[in-house]
Amino acid sequence: MLRKLTRALFRRPAAVADNASEDAAAAHAVKPLTGGRSANMQDLDLSSATIIERQDHRISRRGISPNALKVLYRFNEAGFHAFLVGGGVRDLLLQNSPKDFDISTNATPEDIKQLFRNARIIGRRFKIVHLSFGREIIEVTTFRAHHTVANEFDTDDSRQGIRGLDSAHSTGGMILRDNVYGSINEDALRRDFTVNALYYTINQFIIIDFAKGMDDLNDRLIRIIGDPETRYREDPVRLLRAIRFAAKLDFTIEASTRAPMDRLAYLLESISPARLFDESIKLFTGGCAEATFAVLRQFKVADYLFKATLDSTSDPASPASRLLTLALRNTDTRLAAGKSVTPAFLYAAMLWPPLQDALKAANADNPPGLVDLQDAASNVIMEQLQRTAIPRRFTTAMREIWEMQCRLKPRSRRSVETILAHPRFRAGYDFLLLREEAGEDLGGLGQWWTDMQSADRSLQETMLAELDKRGPKKSKRRKPRRQDNNL
Ligand code: ATP
Ligand code: MG
Repeated sequence: MLRKLTRALFRRPAAVADNASEDAAAAHAVKPLTGGRSANMQDLDLSSATIIERQDHRISRRGISPNALKVLYRFNEAGFHAFLVGGGVRDLLLQNSPKDFDISTNATPEDIKQLFRNARIIGRRFKIVHLSFGREIIEVTTFRAHHTVANEFDTDDSRQGIRGLDSAHSTGGMILRDNVYGSINEDALRRDFTVNALYYTINQFIIIDFAKGMDDLNDRLIRIIGDPETRYREDPVRLLRAIRFAAKLDFTIEASTRAPMDRLAYLLESISPARLFDESIKLFTGGCAEATFAVLRQFKVADYLFKATLDSTSDPASPASRLLTLALRNTDTRLAAGKSVTPAFLYAAMLWPPLQDALKAANADNPPGLVDLQDAASNVIMEQLQRTAIPRRFTTAMREIWEMQCRLKPRSRRSVETILAHPRFRAGYDFLLLREEAGEDLGGLGQWWTDMQSADRSLQETMLAELDKRGPKKSKRRKPRRQDNNL
């Protein structure tokens, strides 16, 4: 049955080269080490798994990063089992390009360190090994065992107690340490969603499916493995991951996986703001930020990440709401074009609507002056930090982008030259254009800066001379600063 389904859905078009010949070409590119002993698939207990044979799926080595292949071969040659797992397999089956490649193995982190010079063990709660190949990082995890009921801690006194333990959880069921290693069968059932628990091996080029992930992939369903409530309590970040994958893949969250999500949203309060910051960035840098935010706001968990933003964007037609939508769309376009995006710009847009509300609440002038803006910015950032710990380098850049909105009003030749040389000019200018696109009337300011940047030297000179003419007559007394710089 499954074989039939996969054949129907993943049948290769006639024009696509045969997997076997693609594999042969890829094997040429990545030379396995010689002299090792190959891992034996017979060692694995695959009795509870469905095997999808090489000819029944579309994954070929050509779609896999050469570095990931190198790692798989190296493990194999050293006698370890190693599989491609997670997003790499899922996305290749869906014919999307994987964001990264994750590998699961029976080698322990210490074994991995011995095998690879570029290995670095990271994480305490859940140890993983990063193998760095230039800018590419291959994430390797050791098969996890089932979580035992021993070692239960109150979260309050957990820090001291769990030091040195490999396995621990809180009285509420949250996993505090997860470093007990097991078999591939156990590992599969410890993963979050069925579509993330498919294992591909270069040993026989098969896919091993312990959790009916292929069926869910074909039905476009995000289904949590095991009892949903228990799994969310173990790690509440899974609530966010369900939303992220549903939005990114355009999948539906399966009914029993969806049912407890709003009721358990409060569990996110127990997750550190630092981890939530990382997760928030993943939500918006997966290539579909606009869709993800639209899905996210239908869930209660959104309140635990972006309460202020949600409150300030209840009217989707307001310029601030529209700016946020445009910024998210812009993020997707940039990523699709291979350009970078910065968390500072993203967060400057996320918090722009609450910033506008804070300015209104403070009865700031309209447009507000720089000092009012700085005060409101501090309050809005401070509140957000309770939820997601935005690192200081990003909050500094966010403030600069916002302050640039005051400074971009051309006043004099000197101010223009200073602003053009400012490291945050480009981001501030892009932000200004978004505000105009969102419907704010800024008197053609965006166009002025566009012209200024594209003009040749003599036109620039004319524009600056215009400013000199318009500029205030020389006066001994300076105007107060807050009136000088307004949005
Ligand atoms: P992508 O990399 O495209 O965002 P992914 O599925 O590969 O998606 P990763 O965060 O790279 O996600 O994690 C790799 C795999 O590790 C997942 O597919 C899943 O099997 C497992 N995993 C990650 N986080 C969790 C978690 N919180 N609980 C259980 N399993 C997890
Ligand atoms: Mg991944």
